[in-house]
Amino acid sequence: MPRPLFSATLAGSLPKPAWLSETNKLWPQWKAQGSALKQAKADATLLWIKLQEDAGLDVIGDGEQSRQHFVHGFLEQVEGIDFDHKVKMGIRDNRYDAMVPQVVAPLRLKGRVHEAEAQLLRAHTTKKIKFTLPGPMTIVDTVADQFYGDKVKMAMAFAGLLNQEALALQADGVDIIQFDEPAFNVYLKEAAGWGVKALECAARGLSCITAVHICYGYGIKANIDWKASLGEEWRQYEAVFPALARSSIQQVSLECYHSHVPPHLMALLDGKDVMVGVIDVASDLIETPEQVADTIGMALQYVPKNRLLACTNCGQAPMSREVALRKLQALAKGVALARQRYSA
Ligand code: ZN
Repeated sequence: MPRPLFSATLAGSLPKPAWLSETNKLWPQWKAQGSALKQAKADATLLWIKLQEDAGLDVIGDGEQSRQHFVHGFLEQVEGIDFDHKVKMGIRDNRYDAMVPQVVAPLRLKGRVHEAEAQLLRAHTTKKIKFTLPGPMTIVDTVADQFYGDKVKMAMAFAGLLNQEALALQADGVDIIQFDEPAFNVYLKEAAGWGVKALECAARGLSCITAVHICYGYGIKANIDWKASLGEEWRQYEAVFPALARSSIQQVSLECYHSHVPPHLMALLDGKDVMVGVIDVASDLIETPEQVADTIGMALQYVPKNRLLACTNCGQAPMSREVALRKLQALAKGVALARQRYSA
């Protein structure tokens, strides 16, 4: 079956219900432990599957309900990482400080990382499912290295682990595996070099659709301040898009609506599917279907119709539940309107 025109999809994360964890936080504390926590995570995942379907999305995700944070959720299942002694580190080129775990020994997976969520997702929707993993370069930027002494070497080690989990997710029935690489917008030269190479290693041997998400970050204050410092034109994508266009990765998710990204940079992704950000996650204002359709119409000047997917600019984890849901509804309604306007 061909993909629905302008398929509506999420970047990744969704807010966690207040009974699962603290709300409006990037690193929220869980409200339960042990088997009760496991059950609560599964319940929250099911809830969001239903809400995404009801909203009318074409691609469904787990909303990252089972991970405390999009990077650290993966690292918790990696041997060689010391989570008991986190250290404060400036991340994303010192844009903000985070408490990060340390790499202290050779890296190896303890076992499956996201088996439960992926199988739950597959069992409860017949729509296409997308699963997100942090990309190697972004992981390297969100952990303190006390062992490898070399960023590229450590990135390649993580890429191997990601690949192992990605192949298993594909076997669980995942249709699209997306690697999140916000670090690509920060370390521009390195991203176009070893960043894309490590990403391709993480995706090696996958026959499902592969994707990468590159953004200007969650709608948190540190990121909003950073964006304000980037000037009138945000040309970061210009550095990495040509390398991605030459890569084996099939889809690229980018930030568009309310950004200062020159839209013509999307044309650098010739030959790729482009997930255009039509929903602003740094504002609680709900987009209208007309605004969403207008953004799609604008992007159609640079992206062929059958290559364009509609997406959120970034994950929605730190937002309120109600706002996130209304934004998903706006996304799907805007896509429906764009189909009426532009399908002929
Ligand atoms: Zn993002």
